[in-house]
Amino acid sequence: MSPILKFTFCLPFAALLASCTVARPPADSHYGHDVYGHRPGPKGFRTIIIDAGHGGKDSGAVSPITQQKEKDLALDTAKRIGRTLGRDFKVILMRSDDTFIDLDERVVRVDRSGAAVLISMHYNSGPSNCRGPETYYWRVDSHGLATRLHQAMCRTCPTGNSCRGLVRRRIRLTRNPQIPCVLLEGGYLSNSVESRLVSDANYRQKLATAIASAIRTQSAIGDSGTGPLPRPIDSPPSRPTDAKE
Ligand SMILES: [Zn+2]
Repeated sequence: MSPILKFTFCLPFAALLASCTVARPPADSHYGHDVYGHRPGPKGFRTIIIDAGHGGKDSGAVSPITQQKEKDLALDTAKRIGRTLGRDFKVILMRSDDTFIDLDERVVRVDRSGAAVLISMHYNSGPSNCRGPETYYWRVDSHGLATRLHQAMCRTCPTGNSCRGLVRRRIRLTRNPQIPCVLLEGGYLSNSVESRLVSDANYRQKLATAIASAIRTQSAIGDSGTGPLPRPIDSPPSRPTDAKE
């Protein structure tokens, strides 16, 4: 190919490439993006994105005792966490009203948000005797934060640790974002004691205060005191067929 031809070929191609590049704001400068997350947990971060699970046509779990919907309780708790973190943190809410957002779209929004950390808030459902908070993480860089968050929720919950506790599970909101990400189940709506507990706004505030405090501690001291890091696993991104979220 002659130099002139090469030039005329390359120019439109380069322009096409440039137009395809998605502009992404830099993540919280203290941490940044990482596809696999095989690194220690975040420290010194100031920006966090809080995801209230479900929304709109997706109610999530519904309490057979109080008839409350998971989507509403999760949104209320997410807002409380945001308010409790206050002025010290920049808090981004994935949704601030009753809107449905697809899980893969949530991942896209997390990576574009510039946040250093994602917390996804949920409430659980299962056999009626199952109770207690549960915490899900996958990435190595999410282990310390997940440990802190789980301990904080268990200290707040009178029923203590649940049957499952802290779980390493590859689901879309624990594997696919390029920042540390933890999914919290604040209690079982299918358990009569816990469902009544969660229906109390004062209890949800206690839970939100404990979660916010764990986030502050992680930002202040990183993974210190949360035990050894789990082994790195080069897993593919999670697909809708992988597991229930
Ligand atoms: Zn849920």
